[in-house]
Amino acid sequence: MSLFGKKKCCSCGENIVTIYRKKLPCGLLCEKCSHEISPFVKSIRFTDTEKLRDHMAYRKENAELLEKFQITRIIGEKTRIVIDDRNGLFLIADCDRWSDRQPDVIRFDQVTGFDEYIEAIESGDYYESSKGIATDLPEGYMTCNFSFTLTVDSPWFDVISMQINKDDLITDDINSSEYREYKKMLAEVRETFRPYYRSARKIS
Ligand SMILES: [Zn+2]
Repeated sequence: MSLFGKKKCCSCGENIVTIYRKKLPCGLLCEKCSHEISPFVKSIRFTDTEKLRDHMAYRKENAELLEKFQITRIIGEKTRIVIDDRNGLFLIADCDRWSDRQPDVIRFDQVTGFDEYIEAIESGDYYESSKGIATDLPEGYMTCNFSFTLTVDSPWFDVISMQINKDDLITDDINSSEYREYKKMLAEVRETFRPYYRSARKIS
């Protein structure tokens, strides 16, 4: 018996020859197949091979949609929402890892809800920066983050959240050009999906 035994991938059926293997509730997955799973879907969902087969078929269709995807707009600083207005499609991607793992392509009309959040922590409150250091803000300043959550009608995921800004915005003025720019980006996403969603909330 070899070191790893003879294990077959529960998706493609090939022998798993590399050390890399992903464990799913329904079995082991080879390296190639594990990269084909949606980044939005947790492994725990794959309780049986039939579900995995359905998912792989969905990902194949996704790859075809990605082929015809035409970028018309990109919103966001680190994580980005990438929009194809011609085909009514969008995806969420990290700018540096754009093609690493095939992002899920979602149709505009799959969006059923839109919530936007402007989180502001004022000076005097406990404040933890993105670097994890607790800091006291100068008097009169606040730290702000701008994000949104989309509720999506999909068999594979229900909710997608994204933060628009990369670093915390520290400001003493909600009329500053940076603050207004981030609000404008949130509004742009909201307006893109307005004809489709049934509910929207502003939480700030
Ligand atoms: Zn495989």
